[in-house]
Amino acid sequence: MKAFVLDATWDPRPDYRPSAVELETRRALVGSSVWRHLTSSYRTLDTPKPGPDDVIIKQRRVGFCGSDMHFFESDADGYIKYPGLTRFPSVLGHELAGDVVEVGANVTHIKVGEPVTIEDMVRCGTCFPCRINQPNFCENLDEVGFSINGGFAEYVRVPARNCWSIAAIRPRVASEGELYDCGALVEPFTVVYNALFIAAGGFQPGAYTVVHGGGPIGLASVAMLRACGAAKILVFEVTPQRRALALKMGADAAYDPKTVKAEEVVMAETEGLGADLQIEAAGAFVHTIPAMENSVSLLGKIVVIGRDAARVSIYPEPLQVKRAILVLAKGNAGMGIYPNVLRLMAAGRIDPRPMITAKYPFGQIPAALDASKARGHGKILIDVA
Ligand SMILES: [Zn+2]
Ligand SMILES: [Zn+2]
Repeated sequence: MKAFVLDATWDPRPDYRPSAVELETRRALVGSSVWRHLTSSYRTLDTPKPGPDDVIIKQRRVGFCGSDMHFFESDADGYIKYPGLTRFPSVLGHELAGDVVEVGANVTHIKVGEPVTIEDMVRCGTCFPCRINQPNFCENLDEVGFSINGGFAEYVRVPARNCWSIAAIRPRVASEGELYDCGALVEPFTVVYNALFIAAGGFQPGAYTVVHGGGPIGLASVAMLRACGAAKILVFEVTPQRRALALKMGADAAYDPKTVKAEEVVMAETEGLGADLQIEAAGAFVHTIPAMENSVSLLGKIVVIGRDAARVSIYPEPLQVKRAILVLAKGNAGMGIYPNVLRLMAAGRIDPRPMITAKYPFGQIPAALDASKARGHGKILIDVA
């Protein structure tokens, strides 16, 4: 099969001592400290065969994620910027949809021909976090599109338990193509769902809400807030294209934080009460944390989803006097997240399609990558077939 493969050189930084397990498996826990000189090319790989508990998916759609882009950025010494779990050579792509074409001998809940999306985090099931039902913190985590070959290929092998049918979305879309588009966009919504409802414990319908950042996670946040009863959704985003997308996804207003002071706008738009819920989806903590601190409501919640390898100072006083809650969230595994997001899509409560701003054929992944690097897009999808 044809696949878009990344490769890099194993060369741990002088101050990074890989563990025995990392050395043995060549699976680096901190990719940015080990891998340098990334290359990418189309290659022919063996078409995967299923193990007894696996399925093989014929790929239809795959999206680029913010974390994927960090693989293609390097520092002055040539090390990749992605700080997480990595092994090379590898095939990226964890936001995907396709059709099941083969199932292992033990697989019963999913059948050949089923259109599916996948849960990308593959938990071990036996470590302490897994045993207390916290799969997002699994100590032996594998991730499809990171440590297991992902969706930038004609076929993908995943454990059957990580597959979710998207067939229920079919009545909401105009074509089979749109069904796979929606399927590939489930993942960013699951990240938002996890942060809002699992990690932060939700919000009250009628809440005044704010989203910092209008990339895919910010846009998915807007749609989720709208579906779940926010009374007002304000977005702060620097690019005009993404501000327009935020309005399309259901925001009440979108502002450029370079030309207005976010905390002043929030206070003015919330009767001076502050926002009940603020979401950081910009990965720009130096700017967003102080703005959120200064415009949080009494008992308000600040939910950080964006990732930013920056040290920032927090002034706790305004948070403390309002008994505000700061939640830092990651992941999307387990906890009923995938089936609930799929139900919301099947019911038409959330529609991810307006987020899609470009589609490229499988042979043009490098061009899609270049387009992704220029900010301003919503979601760029690759049409694998
Ligand atoms: Zn993603
Ligand atoms: Zn585990």
